[in-house]
Amino acid sequence: MERLTPRGWLVVEKEPEEGRARFKDSELGYVSGSCDVDKKTIHCLVVHDRDTLSVFLHEVGHATLHNRGDDVHTADEEYEAETFSFAVMRGLGIAVPRSALRGAKGNVINALKAHGHDASDDALKFAYGKNWRDYR
Ligand SMILES: [Zn+2]
Repeated sequence: MERLTPRGWLVVEKEPEEGRARFKDSELGYVSGSCDVDKKTIHCLVVHDRDTLSVFLHEVGHATLHNRGDDVHTADEEYEAETFSFAVMRGLGIAVPRSALRGAKGNVINALKAHGHDASDDALKFAYGKNWRDYR
């Protein structure tokens, strides 16, 4: 399903691949969502539960907070998108499922591994918990 928002963003909901909570993006490989700010386009799984809602809101976080294209985001950008998603969900009275929190931490850890650990203390604390200084 595709929807155009009033401000011209295209939101494309994708069916997951068989047995995965991901779909195949032609440029990024298997992902649960993507946001291309230059093209004003969000791709995400069909929103049908709290996990898929958190992914959609994560991409909205990128669209709201970040101003570059569809590159691999830094750990701080991923952290900001995750916390944006969770803040919106909690603000609406929707509990954030543990699976979404685990996925979010993994997402920030993957960005830290891809870009090195030159990230904010907040991103490191979110990713690694009380042992975050060991990763500095
Ligand atoms: Zn992201």
